Amino acid sequence: CGIVAYVGPKDAAPILLEGLQRLEYRGYDSAGVVVSNKGLKVRKVKGRVADLAKVVPGRFKGNLGIGHTRWATHGVPSDVNAHPHLSADGRVAVVHNGIIENAGELRAKLEADGVVFASETDTEVLAHLIAHAVDENDSLEEAVRKTLKAVVGTYGIAVIDSERQGEVVVARNGSPIVLGIGEKEMFAASDVAALVRYTRQVVHLEDGELAVLKADGFHTFASDARETAKEPLTVDWDA
Ligand code: GLU
Repeated sequence: CGIVAYVGPKDAAPILLEGLQRLEYRGYDSAGVVVSNKGLKVRKVKGRVADLAKVVPGRFKGNLGIGHTRWATHGVPSDVNAHPHLSADGRVAVVHNGIIENAGELRAKLEADGVVFASETDTEVLAHLIAHAVDENDSLEEAVRKTLKAVVGTYGIAVIDSERQGEVVVARNGSPIVLGIGEKEMFAASDVAALVRYTRQVVHLEDGELAVLKADGFHTFASDARETAKEPLTVDWDA
């Protein structure tokens, strides 16, 4: 349902929680965040963003993170089914809006290979597939691209890898993703409402596009991996 992502010099968690609050109007059943700082730290709950904020400790340090509000389509609303979803080794974390239509088939293949799933969601297959690709030394960007080629369905996603500090990969197909450009920091969200407190400079991804965000900027790519040139827009509404 809602996505927020941050990479920059600040602590990600307060920015993610604030952004998720601004997406509450869309409705949701659960919420979660993950930040990266020598390993991933995850909190997720069935319930409100305010309930999530209560279980995020004051010292939840990490300059990179992603957050989500979920509107369940596959699997009941629960703490375990809330996003982010992690790979089995805990290295890769994914948040996802939309529906992976061939998740059943992909899951069966992964389970036949010995992967143990933690949740009932369609989303979790993405975390395991991306982790397999980064294990084979793909860049996170390439791992996400490869995974999305295997996927049928709709998605806006944000992905982090604990072994690639300083990088968030986002992609969209049928579910919006907008990038927010800050001063030595980058944001992404499913809706500009989550960004306007932090920046007015935004870039909307098109279906099939993928973006790599780092504190000092971003690159966008078409589905054939060719880099695309995007002009930032200035949003002129009140936060
Ligand atoms: N299909 C995913 C799930 O059920 C994502 C739902 C959403 O868009 O929030 O977990």
